[in-house]
Amino acid sequence: MDEFWQSIKNDVAWFEDGSLNAAHNALDKYKNTPIEQKSALIYESESGDIQIFTFSDLIKISNKIANYLTRKGVMKGDRVFLFLPRIPEIYISFLSILKTGAIAGTMFSAFGKDALKDRLENSEAKVVITTKELSERIEAVKNELPKLEKIIIVDSVDFKKELENESDQFEVVHTEPEDYAFMLYTSGTTGKPKGIVHSHYGILQQHQSAKVALDLKSEDKYWCTADPGWVTGIVYSILSNWSLGITTYIYGGRFDPEIWYKFLEKHKITVWYSAPTAIRMLMAKGDDLVKKFDLTSLRYLASVGEPLNPEAVIWSEKVFGKPFHDGWWQTETGSIQITNTPQIAVKPGSMGMPFPWVQASIIDDDYNIVADGKEGNLALKYPWPSMMRTVWNNQEKYDSYFKDGWYISGDRAKKDKDGYFWFIGRADDVIKTSGERIGPFEVESALVEHDSVVEAGVIGKPDELRGEIIKAFVVLKPGIEGNDVLKEELQQHVKKQLAGHAYPREIEFIDKLPKTRSGKIMRRILKAKELGQPIGDTSTLEEY
Ligand code: ATP
Ligand code: MG
Repeated sequence: MDEFWQSIKNDVAWFEDGSLNAAHNALDKYKNTPIEQKSALIYESESGDIQIFTFSDLIKISNKIANYLTRKGVMKGDRVFLFLPRIPEIYISFLSILKTGAIAGTMFSAFGKDALKDRLENSEAKVVITTKELSERIEAVKNELPKLEKIIIVDSVDFKKELENESDQFEVVHTEPEDYAFMLYTSGTTGKPKGIVHSHYGILQQHQSAKVALDLKSEDKYWCTADPGWVTGIVYSILSNWSLGITTYIYGGRFDPEIWYKFLEKHKITVWYSAPTAIRMLMAKGDDLVKKFDLTSLRYLASVGEPLNPEAVIWSEKVFGKPFHDGWWQTETGSIQITNTPQIAVKPGSMGMPFPWVQASIIDDDYNIVADGKEGNLALKYPWPSMMRTVWNNQEKYDSYFKDGWYISGDRAKKDKDGYFWFIGRADDVIKTSGERIGPFEVESALVEHDSVVEAGVIGKPDELRGEIIKAFVVLKPGIEGNDVLKEELQQHVKKQLAGHAYPREIEFIDKLPKTRSGKIMRRILKAKELGQPIGDTSTLEEY
């Protein structure tokens, strides 16, 4: 694989001395080229104000911030964290930090003070960049963070004034490919978030994967809905998209089906990268709403973050005339690894195939590759350029991912005879009932296929007779009453769609599933609540 990366090494821009900086690739390499005057960021706020930044604008503003940071003592290797809503400053200052050689970190703007304290303490952050409003939460824990030297408030008069006086020229620090570029904490779906650290060299694979998996072309109008608080919002709405010189659209407001459709229509978005939770919510709003909008500009749709239910793919083909292309990766992998590229036919419910430069296999607990069609651990041969370089302050955790020449993802999956990968569940979530192993995803997908269901979370509930039984928590479409008749109907539906033994013996109707703030169903919380156990780290749990 090394040969492959060597062969495309010059797809990204290196400094003459062999050093590499991801922010130089996202911005400064366009200096004195025609791309300089192209729109890089088109930002629309919740209230509908639009701001347009060319690559040249972003270079200049990020330089000013980089100069400011350097003057305040930020040095190579320091951790500088962004605690900002989805405003232009988060995109720009992320790159400023990389330019200085420091390590950028992000924290989702809805985090409470404990979540902030955990992350800032663990990373030993020196600087936090935030807003007036959000800074209150940092102030509340500041005294417990001896390493935190400075809080920068981007909407303060002082900062704005100082920035005016900074030069818009800055020489990007010549970082080595292996120097750390950014770090962030995992989504916390399965437990306490881990501080995953990435190097500048990752840009090579991020660039390549975005080009292929998102089918990005120079004239595209690209919208990635992910927040930079999560890895998708960093890799695919800051680094790779700009490394490819793509005009990127950002909506700063909250999810709302009508507003999202309007956004797609108004900006004539061509490539749209989103997540299953949003797609399910759009689907639940029905076809009449989507038909009100002219969405013919859409050329390519992609999804990530969770398994994408087959029903969602079928629906997108019906209403947009094209499928969502699902793709699998993790904070730890640093870029998409398995995906439905434009070159392969989408099999609804499958994550697609590994990129040619990814060696993915399904292995058993003794690290042997299993036969096609058999369930096992989804594992990758390492290393690869965008692979995490460490887990901050936790070497033991880092080492635990690697066994017998494999990177073990912690996900269970299977591969079919055509080479497509199918997600089964997180290793901890797989249900063992009457001697059979069942992935929660297939049961959830069967439920979602039913007309009355918006979404479902499925867990294994301990049972004396069967080991575990399947319990489903089901969210119904508005206006539908959850009663015993419907329970019976859903059970029959799953039996018919899936298998006699794979139906949920227990069904509970609930208004909302517990999810991470990035929209992933937190089955561990459903399970802990069901069993009356402590619910563990809830720092990423969306508020109700
Ligand atoms: P934590 O590691 O803290 O529990 P997390 O695993 O949810 O959180 P991320 O790195 O954001 O943190 O998410 C990666 C995980 O998301 C994958 O391991 C997988 O379980 C799930 N995932 C991502 N994309 C897909 C996909 N296309 N299909 C199925 N699962 C996916
Ligand atoms: Mg994980």
